[in-house]
Amino acid sequence: MSEHKIAMVGTPCEIMAASKLQHYTDSPIEVKLGLFCMENFSYKYFINLLKEYDLKMEDIEKFQIEKGFVFLLLKNKDEVRIPLSVARRIIRKNCDICVELTSETSDISIGSIGSEDGWSTLIIRTEKGENIVEGAVKNGFIEVKDFSDAQFDLLERIASSKIERNLENIEEREFFARPVLYQRQKSDDSIMKEISESDFMDLKSNVIDIGACVLCGACEYACPENLIIIDDTKPRMKGKCVEDCHACFSVCPRTFIPENLRNDNSKAIGDYRKIFTAKSVRHTQGQDGSIVTTILDYLLSEGIATEALIVDKEDHLAWKPYAKITSDIDEVVKSGGTKYSVCPVFKPLKNIEEVD
Ligand SMILES: Cc1cc2nc3c(=O)[nH]c(=O)nc-3n(C[C@H](O)[C@H](O)[C@H](O)COP(=O)(O)OP(=O)(O)OC[C@H]3O[C@@H](n4cnc5c(N)ncnc54)[C@H](O)[C@@H]3O)c2cc1C
Ligand code: SF4
Ligand code: SF4
Ligand code: SF4
Repeated sequence: MSEHKIAMVGTPCEIMAASKLQHYTDSPIEVKLGLFCMENFSYKYFINLLKEYDLKMEDIEKFQIEKGFVFLLLKNKDEVRIPLSVARRIIRKNCDICVELTSETSDISIGSIGSEDGWSTLIIRTEKGENIVEGAVKNGFIEVKDFSDAQFDLLERIASSKIERNLENIEEREFFARPVLYQRQKSDDSIMKEISESDFMDLKSNVIDIGACVLCGACEYACPENLIIIDDTKPRMKGKCVEDCHACFSVCPRTFIPENLRNDNSKAIGDYRKIFTAKSVRHTQGQDGSIVTTILDYLLSEGIATEALIVDKEDHLAWKPYAKITSDIDEVVKSGGTKYSVCPVFKPLKNIEEVD
């Protein structure tokens, strides 16, 4: 058993990878804070798109996506809007077949849809999540208000539209290419059989080569032989797999999903216990209600988590995301705000396990 109790933040696909790591391995992940996510972008293509608007990443103070636009709040206080219909071409291909908006396998899901400016929508999914939110409220970290029927209807409508659109994309893609494995409804026994016959080459042909890889880095983290390396575009393998190892295939969020983690596509936001609109009482630097930052602050302050696994920006490359593990609350606060491009979130986990 690991001595680390990690609280991680991630998009729905990354939270699914974390859930599979918990299911199939002895994972140090203790708490999963899942973000809402409609889409994500390629960092490289985002730079090219900005050039069309005579902008550089360095010019941007904050990104916000809402009401059909990517809003860029510039450091000079100007605001530029890029229609999502234009930005669509830099969305990562894997996001077109993603049928989850709200991180359904998290302990607590957080997003902006449904809440007013400066507030976050907070969905409690598990008993652990409920205890955390109750503790954070009681100890004066966050405040919560009821989520109205109108707010709920909006969230449900947007979640359904993502699911329906991407189910159609899946159908279209499967007509030309391989089946999208994570949508296959198989029993746990037959999944275990598939896993026992699969290694990196199966991951490559069924996920990576068909544009389904979300670049989460779970395969790299899980490989006991350190054979997988992830660059900005995809995981690659150096060397030869050892016999009877299937770790990368089992933890990937885009291979088969065990029965207890599987989404029911007819439930737009999945199963949950409670839903609120919420705001931090302690921090203001976050994207919306600074709820993620503040819950992490609470978890670290109370010793419920030993470290937070978060996504910060590189100092030398504006808005380039990178994942890090820290127990320093100032570092958590610094990493608040949404970076609209992808990075392998599980990469730093490997280092803590190697240090131990
Ligand atoms: C790619 C992406 C798309 C999103 N799309 C939507 C959407 O369509 N609708 C919606 O309501 N909400 C969306 N969100 C969530 C929203 O932008 C806020 O992150 C969320 O409301 C939490 O706000 P906050 O103020 O509580 O978080 P903060 O206190 O600002 O904390 C944000 C946390 O997010 C983490 N983070 C930042 N960027 C990334 C990243 N690229 N990958 C993983 N973790 C990251 C950081 O570690 C930080 O701890 C998206 C988030 C991401 C990363
Ligand atoms: S696949 Fe894309 S849209 Fe889906 S959760 Fe991951 S980043 Fe978001
Ligand atoms: S050794 Fe195992 S985990 Fe590593 S690449 Fe091969 S099958 Fe995947
Ligand atoms: S192939 Fe690796 S990086 Fe890509 S989604 Fe699967 S586990 Fe994540």
